[in-house]
Formats: sequence, C-alpha cells, structure tokens
Amino acid sequence: MSAAAPSVRANPDRATAGTPLYVHLPFCAAKCHYCDFFSVAGEGQDGPGMVAAILAEAKQRAPQRPRTVFLGGGTPSYQSEPELRALLDGLQAVTDFRSSADEVTAECNPESLSFEKARLLHDLGVTRLSIGFQSLEPEVLTLFGRVHDVDESFRAYDNARRAGFDRVNVDLIYAYPGHTREHWERDLARVLALGPDHLAAYNLTFEEETPFERWLTDGRLQALPEELELELFDVTRDLARKAGLPAYEISNYARPTEACRHNVNYWRNGEYVGLGPSAASKVGFTRSGNARSIALYRRAVEQGESAAAWDETPSTSLRLAETWWLGLRLADGVVAARARETAGWASDAHDPFEERARSLADEGWLERRGASFALSARGLPLADMLARRFFELVDDPAP
Ligand code: SF4
Repeated sequence: MSAAAPSVRANPDRATAGTPLYVHLPFCAAKCHYCDFFSVAGEGQDGPGMVAAILAEAKQRAPQRPRTVFLGGGTPSYQSEPELRALLDGLQAVTDFRSSADEVTAECNPESLSFEKARLLHDLGVTRLSIGFQSLEPEVLTLFGRVHDVDESFRAYDNARRAGFDRVNVDLIYAYPGHTREHWERDLARVLALGPDHLAAYNLTFEEETPFERWLTDGRLQALPEELELELFDVTRDLARKAGLPAYEISNYARPTEACRHNVNYWRNGEYVGLGPSAASKVGFTRSGNARSIALYRRAVEQGESAAAWDETPSTSLRLAETWWLGLRLADGVVAARARETAGWASDAHDPFEERARSLADEGWLERRGASFALSARGLPLADMLARRFFELVDDPAP
C-alpha cells in the first residue's frame, strides 16, 4: 500500500498552544502487586526535588495554555501540600493552565486524600478528582497490595465532595481471581449509590514483571474463566447505565457531559505532552517517552537536556490503524475521514481501512452510527481481535 506524504511537523521542540498536558508523579505509598506503571514507593524519596525537576522540564517543553491537564502517576495525592502547591503554581507560571484548561484532573489514593489536601487541590485549580478505590473487599485490597481500607475510600470520596469537587471519578478493578457476580453487583451498587460522575472499571490484567504475573505462573493465582469475565463486563455496563452513567468507552462510564476530556483525546489519537519520568508524548506524528528512571530523568532535566529516552515516527498506515484501534474503544466510534485527517493520510487517497470497517459492519462486528463506525454489541467483547483486522493492513510498520 502507498499513501501520499502527509504534512509532518518534524519533531518540534514544543507543542502548539492548547495541547493537552500530562504530568507523571512517580511516588506511591507502596507498590501494588498488579501495577506495571512507572512508580516507586515514596518513602525516603525527594519529593521537592521531583517537583523541581518536572518544573524544569515544563520550562523546556510544556505547551502554553493547555486545554486539559492530568496529574497522574504514581499517586499525585502522595505529594505533600507544599509540593503540590509548588507544582501547580509553577505549572501556572509556565503554561497559564488556570485560564485555559476546561478540565484539570488529579489522581488520588484514599490514604492520602485528606479533606485539607482535597481543598488545597481545589484552590490550586484542579477541577476533577479520580480516586482509586479498586475494591470494596478487605481481603482483595490486601491481595492487591493496597495500603488503604474500604472506609478510607468512602472518606476520601466524602472529602472530595466537601472540598467542592463536582467532578469525581471512582476507579475499580474487577475479574480478579475468585471474583463472583454476586460480590461485583453488591460492590458496584455501593459505589454507584455514592453518585460519582464517572466510573472507570478495568478488568484485572496480569502485566509482565509484576508479582501478579509471577503468582499466576506459579499457580498461586488463577485467572477468572473468560465467560465469567464477560458476564462481569455486561453487569458493569448494565448497572452503570441504570445509574445514569452510560459507557462512553470500553472501560469508562460517565454522566453524559462528564467523560474525561483528557483521556478522550488519547482515544482520538490526539497530540499531548507528558512531563515527568516515563511520561509519553505525541507531538505532530512523533511519539516519545521519558526515561523510566528517577535518577536519569532528573539528571537530564537538571542539566537542561531532553529527558526523552526514545522517540519514533510511525508510518502513515500504522498511524491510521492506531487511530481506528483507539477510536473503536469509544462508543461514538470512528469517522473515517476524521481518522485519515488525524493520521495525516491524503484525503483523496484510496482508504483500505474504511473498506475494512465496511466489511466488518457487513459481518455484524461494527455498526454505523451516523457518520461513524462503532463496535456493535457483538463486537464489543472482541475489540482487541477486531483491532488486529486493521493492523493487518499496515504494510510499512517501520518508520
Ligand atoms: S497506587 Fe497506582 S500507580 Fe501506585 S503502585 Fe498502586 S496501582 Fe501503581
């Protein structure tokens, strides 16, 4: 396959104004047993030093006036109140995000979201909190390696509301070893009864080089049968919809106006800039990622150098396959012409990806929703397999 050359902005130093901004704060109270994010136990770590390094990187390459900001990690709420103040005031000085962003999210864990910290985040311009409950079963929290209990999760939620947050997400994990429909229905109902604006419910995955992967291999843990996992997925969609939070993405549910705008940009394969160790960026058609090492990251930015450990510019057809793969996760689906524009595919060129979408719709895996192709009820549980049908069309995967 060939495609006309797109107008690529060659690896610019700084993204255009308005580009969404992600900030990775790598410290957590302890490392969870299933987690493969770049994060480390924070005890003894230099929190002020990390904030200073991120602000140094922000001066190098943060976009002006970002549309959205997302503090993730790691556990942003693990940082002390002076560190959070220094970080958010520093980002304001560099980007003016408080007057530009219509969504500023901070990820929090229950053990570190006191009322005072929630109120500080609110005062510093954060508009949305995402709280990691993960489970309402004490023994499952222990299995996960979480350091909070169930009561702390509910207290953290209450702290967020009392501090004035009217956009709150709750994160849950389901389909862990031994999980049952009865327990999931009960726990989900308790969380939904709180009235969150957004719910993120991910099925457990056994990521490489985590204790969970080792325990699966040595037989200490057993994965849930696939049919039960699918049943729990259906239960989630059903209960969330009845609570006024229809699915807008495979694992994300929200009131109609409360989808996470920052994450929707990822699923639309949009541009973003990530600051902090391990953070990924996509500027123009070039993707890059910072060093997954606190020492290497800090050394680079403190010397005024780039912290990027890798970068790549995927081929046009790979970009288009990725745009379909990500976009089909959204209930709104993919408009073929918009996907071509995102991927820099010449608009008048033959588009085998749109043809593939049409044939998958004929087979019942996708359905037309206005100008979009979206996963049908039959295709929904098979999203990854269907995505492969688009990647098969990539004949020039190397940049
Ligand atoms: S709190 Fe989140 S980022 Fe930190 S170890 Fe646990 S899952 Fe990973």
